[in-house]
Amino acid sequence: MVESNQNGAEMQNGAGAKSVKAEERETLHEVIVIGSGPAGWTAGLYAARANLEPLLITGDDYGGQVSITYEVENYPGFPEGLSGPDLVEKFKAQAERFGCTVSYDHVTEIVVDEHPFTVRTAQEKEYRTKSLILCTGARPRFLEVPGEEEYTGKGVSYCATCDGFFFRGKELVVVGGGDSALEEGLFLTKFATKIQIIHRRDELRASKILQDRAFDNDKIRFVWNRVVTSINGNENGVVSGVTTRDTQNGAEGDIATDGVFVYIGHLPNNDLYHGKLDLDEDGHLIVDPSTRTNVPGVFAAGEIADKVFKQVATSVGQGCAAAMQAEKFLASLEAEGLPDLSEDPRAWPTPGVPKAQADLVAAD
Ligand SMILES: Cc1cc2nc3c(=O)[nH]c(=O)nc-3n(C[C@H](O)[C@H](O)[C@H](O)COP(=O)(O)OP(=O)(O)OC[C@H]3O[C@@H](n4cnc5c(N)ncnc54)[C@H](O)[C@@H]3O)c2cc1C
Repeated sequence: MVESNQNGAEMQNGAGAKSVKAEERETLHEVIVIGSGPAGWTAGLYAARANLEPLLITGDDYGGQVSITYEVENYPGFPEGLSGPDLVEKFKAQAERFGCTVSYDHVTEIVVDEHPFTVRTAQEKEYRTKSLILCTGARPRFLEVPGEEEYTGKGVSYCATCDGFFFRGKELVVVGGGDSALEEGLFLTKFATKIQIIHRRDELRASKILQDRAFDNDKIRFVWNRVVTSINGNENGVVSGVTTRDTQNGAEGDIATDGVFVYIGHLPNNDLYHGKLDLDEDGHLIVDPSTRTNVPGVFAAGEIADKVFKQVATSVGQGCAAAMQAEKFLASLEAEGLPDLSEDPRAWPTPGVPKAQADLVAAD
């Protein structure tokens, strides 16, 4: 296990792991960031620039979802686009440059009902921290069929906003029957000439309004009662079709396509939070616009708390906001002491936002 900071100083936890562990238990961190996706690195960067010496724990999926992204073309500042892994390395280098310490470890438990909070990890480390920024993200539910992994980024996608542009004038398949499948299918009609939505049942889970729009759209056709059993490619190494199985009679069939967009669910990485922090019905952390969870000093950013926008740019913005809020929390901790941990900070006035017109006038 290796930890490093911007000076390249490394702490190897080999034979000396016991003493490092004891030391770390005694170290009280100002802020710990959990997750190494775009939200996590941005929170690490902002917290580091605020001199909070953050510790960022990467998790098993180093770099998060963007690290499995072949080409990112919609993140501002990179007009030529860049690969997901390259973007992650730039995020990391920038955070480390200002003093963010990175630990390649996975968090197994957080304790947030007593302050300072406790973070325990797979490598049997235990940290104490005055504030926490949770950026554990989400993951698309995969089809788990042959060809899916091989052709991800070569015709298989989980993000129409990100990749739809590459399929101008092409024919596409969308897999799923919920709101996301229909919304993204409708979005893809801007680019594709024909879209076949493959659904395992003969009716949709999606809302009525989306169903009406999809049924009315000439470019969309539904393929009912079918599941995708494999994604197939051609000699150029890109998607050329899918094989399906009829859920009623087992008959197999092939559908030719240039691309496959998979929308069979999106799963927030929320194992750490059950029974500890407020989650919505889909398992996302409930935060206010200031990224505050229901526990004072615990903030959340990116897809763990956002099921609407789900982009690198929005996750980065939320990571920035969370670190700025953590900084405010730490300053008030210093000045006023610890607030009641069972008091929901989301009910407090938004920091920096005047409560009423009268405050605005007074401020002038
Ligand atoms: C295939 C694909 C292509 C995409 N393409 C684009 C694109 O072109 N443009 C765009 O804007 N968006 C794209 N997106 C969406 C974008 O990647 C996500 O919106 C973004 O990565 C979300 O960032 P995040 O920081 O919230 O979380 P994630 O990227 O989901 O990262 C979560 C992090 O949390 C860590 N973690 C989880 N649990 C733990 C734990 N217990 N302990 C420690 N760490 C933990 C993981 O290891 C991971 O590092 C794409 C998504 C996918 C799947």
